Amino acid sequence: MRITVDLDLCQGHAMCELEAPEVFEVPPRQKVRVLDPEPADDLRPQVTAAVRYCPTRALTLQEP
Ligand code: SF4
Repeated sequence: MRITVDLDLCQGHAMCELEAPEVFEVPPRQKVRVLDPEPADDLRPQVTAAVRYCPTRALTLQEP
């Protein structure tokens, strides 16, 4: 799986970091930083939750 971010949509809510701190980092008052754009499959539940709960739908999950 591969994560893409639309930084125009990201508003720094940090829900993604809450769900998957191994993959997303959101510094205070900044936009998301994807630490691992192609995370291992065992992180799928956390990553899927992060994508689902992003309030601005800035995250997309692509399968190869
Ligand atoms: S949850 Fe969405 S809007 Fe919030 S920091 Fe993550 S990507 Fe950005």
